[in-house]
Amino acid sequence: MNALACKCDACGRHMTLLAELPSVGKYEAVNVFRCYGCNSVKSEQEARR
Ligand SMILES: [Zn+2]
Repeated sequence: MNALACKCDACGRHMTLLAELPSVGKYEAVNVFRCYGCNSVKSEQEARR
């Protein structure tokens, strides 16, 4: 579970994982993070090998 961490681009605070969207078909899995410092939301594609 240590891969699910993200830093906010705007204020540099730790972002909390809001949702994990599983990969469906050709779409890759996406993690959605939210920053409680500045309230920004960011989604990141999970790196897959
Ligand atoms: Zn922030």
